Amino acid sequence: MNTAANLTARMPAIGILGGTFNPIHFGHLRMAQELADALNLDTVRFIPAANPPHKDAPAISAEQRAAMVKLAIANNDSFIFDDRELHRTGASYTLDTLLSLREELGEKTSITLFMGSDAFTKFDTWHRWQEIISLCHIALVQRPQLRGHEHKLSKTLETFLHNHYSENSDDLHHHAAGFVTMRQITALDISSTAIRHALQHGDSVRYLIPDNVIEYIHQYKLYR
Ligand code: ATP
Ligand code: MG
Repeated sequence: MNTAANLTARMPAIGILGGTFNPIHFGHLRMAQELADALNLDTVRFIPAANPPHKDAPAISAEQRAAMVKLAIANNDSFIFDDRELHRTGASYTLDTLLSLREELGEKTSITLFMGSDAFTKFDTWHRWQEIISLCHIALVQRPQLRGHEHKLSKTLETFLHNHYSENSDDLHHHAAGFVTMRQITALDISSTAIRHALQHGDSVRYLIPDNVIEYIHQYKLYR
């Protein structure tokens, strides 16, 4: 153990959660809260994607998805809305987001990217994915298996995980980037896909998403 590192002042540490948020739900919010607590992070930034590279263009505009994120996190001082992906044209690449965050925050802030297990199985298809770990840590959570879809890792990702893995949150505070960790969180089998389906069928989505987001959806007649 490097004592010099332990004596240095703790650097600021933030989490980031990117997503389509179509719409944002309690699965996202609870994951952000539990990871922020478990990893002792100062704030979590919610970063809606304008044009998610791996999905068809959502029918709901980026502005409306962003508005729902803002409403959902309005009452939590540690949750911060970050609209940097909305101002870029073209696909929303996480690498570009991290480069822009590094420009803003510098090298002496620990940045941890949050990801569900479903997202991580496709991580090795992301734009310049191997560079991402030099810009941030990654915190993984197990997402309840979407029926029929196993979250199985490729050999490449298993090796990547093995090479960067740490269970020690101190590693994430003493380094600005470079580690992958996993945390158990309350399993909430909630997805935006299921919420969109429920709304299309006229079913209630109470207790799956915040009430003020439901009001917004009804006000603008979204997902009908
Ligand atoms: P969709 O069904 O449209 O894909 P989603 O519910 O998967 O929506 P995303 O915006 O795609 O939501 O997810 C953003 C991030 O949040 C991803 O890393 C995803 O794994 C994670 N996530 C989403 N829902 C949950 C959940 N219920 N528990 C844990 N992580 C989640
Ligand atoms: Mg998803």
